[in-house]
Amino acid sequence: MAKPNLTQKIHDLMTKPEKIRNMGIVAHIDHGKTTLSDSLLTGAGMLSEKVAGEARALDFLEEEQERGITIQASNISMIHNFRGDEFMINLIDTPGHVDFGGDVTRAMRAVDGALVVLCAVEGPMPQTETVLRQALKERVRPVLFINKVDRLIKELKLKPDEMQQRLIHWINGINELIKTYAPKEFAEKWKVNVLDGSVSFGSAVDKWALSFPYMKERGITFKEIIDAYDTDDKEKRQEIARKAPLHEILLDMAIKHFPNPKVAQGYRIPGIWKGDLESDVGRALLTCDANGPLVVEVTKVTVDEFGEIATGRIFSGKIRQGDILKLIKGGREERIQQIGVYKGAQRVPIDEAIAGNIIAIVGLKDTFSGETISNRMVDPFEAISHIFEPVVTKAVEAKNPKDLPKLVEVLKGIEKEDPTIRVQINEETGEHLMSGLGELHLEWIEQKIIKYKGVDVRTSQPIVVYRESVAKKSPIAEGKSPNKHNKFYMTIEPLDAPLHDAMKRGLLEDMRIKPKDKEFWKELNEFGMDKEEARSVKDIYRDCMFLDMTKGIVQIREVLPMVMDAFEEIVRSGPLAREPVLGIKVKLIDVSLHEDAIHRGPAQVLPAVRESLRNAMIHAEPVLFEPVRELRIDSPVEYMGAVTKLVQSRRGSILDMDQTDKYLVMMAKMPVAASFGFTSELRSASSGRAVWSLRDIAFEQLPKSMQDEIIKGIRDRKGLAVNQI
Ligand code: GDP
Repeated sequence: MAKPNLTQKIHDLMTKPEKIRNMGIVAHIDHGKTTLSDSLLTGAGMLSEKVAGEARALDFLEEEQERGITIQASNISMIHNFRGDEFMINLIDTPGHVDFGGDVTRAMRAVDGALVVLCAVEGPMPQTETVLRQALKERVRPVLFINKVDRLIKELKLKPDEMQQRLIHWINGINELIKTYAPKEFAEKWKVNVLDGSVSFGSAVDKWALSFPYMKERGITFKEIIDAYDTDDKEKRQEIARKAPLHEILLDMAIKHFPNPKVAQGYRIPGIWKGDLESDVGRALLTCDANGPLVVEVTKVTVDEFGEIATGRIFSGKIRQGDILKLIKGGREERIQQIGVYKGAQRVPIDEAIAGNIIAIVGLKDTFSGETISNRMVDPFEAISHIFEPVVTKAVEAKNPKDLPKLVEVLKGIEKEDPTIRVQINEETGEHLMSGLGELHLEWIEQKIIKYKGVDVRTSQPIVVYRESVAKKSPIAEGKSPNKHNKFYMTIEPLDAPLHDAMKRGLLEDMRIKPKDKEFWKELNEFGMDKEEARSVKDIYRDCMFLDMTKGIVQIREVLPMVMDAFEEIVRSGPLAREPVLGIKVKLIDVSLHEDAIHRGPAQVLPAVRESLRNAMIHAEPVLFEPVRELRIDSPVEYMGAVTKLVQSRRGSILDMDQTDKYLVMMAKMPVAASFGFTSELRSASSGRAVWSLRDIAFEQLPKSMQDEIIKGIRDRKGLAVNQI
């Protein structure tokens, strides 16, 4: 039963950012996120008890029902009373399967807190790790709920002290991850802690949860819980759920440990918005000021019978129905037809909303997640990026040639919507490529194109995108402009490991460097770069670095932007097989330029730089890197031999193996190129009992013996002539 005046209460609380908490729930698949979300909603009075658990309020897309997993993130607002005060909690649902990581990524931009759900039997799993990493990357504070504790008692028959040990073991695992992946200043502060109640445990199906402070306050013991299950006494279990209701403990935890939007924006904005923090927009964003300029970031776009619905977080200012607003990246203006807040699949219309809220906006045509909306020209938010690169690619073609223009539109739309998808449209050859995290991810996107976008398509076999790099330092290589009057001299060498690592972890972001950026030089110093080199760095682009080592060249400032354009182009499409380049350090050593500016324009400079870069790369022992997945395979012990053989037959190697009683946990590495069809082979090799999940994606050097053949294969596919570079 919905509580009376709920909508009115929501309206009131929406004007008090201190009373708002924006949160998401993240978990490995099957650890109980949907069950938990439904229990929270039932508890907070949004759904009737009967519905929860049956209809699964958050899973409303047909696709999700069919597969029984949650794919799209949807939102819901709940009211919760904490120590006599009412709070509004905006809960964003997030999918648990990493192949659909795009939704998690975007949801994390909208929220300030992440409730990490962990299964007490399985502990931290690969997706626990990836979603937690994604949250921390967005400076979203985590708390922990250890679910399915009932199974520790019923199935594993653990005694109180064993149970406690098990929980502590999992908590330590999560804290290890927080320490590794949290921004430096939060690495210690954000660790979860039993004593302060940022950890709780319980059972989502039986609807109870406990934290250490709550146990003390209410005098509940481990023994009492174990008794209720040991005697299989339903009445006793319900008694626990009455004494320690799941929604109360978890929503208390959210209110106590998650920051309100005002506090959160103070430290989140510098990481997600690169405008001037001293400007009035900057200050309004940092303080979540309702009286500042309006700035909203769209974090999701869905389509329903009203048209496109954008979900967005208001970071500053006020938004009203009827406002005419600027879509910054889209370069347009649109009128807001309606705004609303979420109650599950329903939206409740409202007139106005202020900074700190997550709202639905109707009337923004062709917008996309990541778009910045404002009532004036402001710097847009940083792109929402995923921790993994898309590494599997498929060519897509429309079955009916008439659909071609529509397909191009649809693909562009999907790329905007999903940060884990990259699309390459080649108008000349008509070959459209879409890249994603894995085969399943691309299959799902393909279904989406056919079912929801109405374009019938055919796709190719999956293709792997490699990376080009170099193994040693090149000699100085020359490149001449077409008019022969401009010459560039450059070298290429492998990027030093600590710097490359910092770039991969997002500690050094892509940018062209401002002059005399001393802070930045210091940072490079910390990653081991010497002072002179640090001062020469001019551009960081996709895991590569460009340095200007020239001295006393008068026109250098004028030509440098063109040199960097050419450098970035080579990084996007390298000389071996036009695959992206990774991990190189390019130095501009010397230039000689035509005196007359007319003869040293882009048409002259760009080809000269490209020639010099290609020459350098070819003499720096070029190598190919391939994407490699780190996997976790869970299997009954009796299939150990079969699973091992299968991994090894696909150029895989076993990194670690842990065997408990009847189960085997194997950590393995496998090149993406050798892993197509692995899922079904693993299933048949283990009578359907072994499963794998993704832990990480990295690039590793391809065995030399395979390099020439692979390069030839890519070049043939791309239709490149033998000597064409
Ligand atoms: P999600 O994939 O993370 O959304 O997980 P679900 O909520 O769909 O739960 C996966 C399975 O675990 C379902 O069969 C649930 O009934 C079951 N489950 C969820 N929570 C609990 C719990 O506390 N105890 C037990 N024994 N099973 C649970």
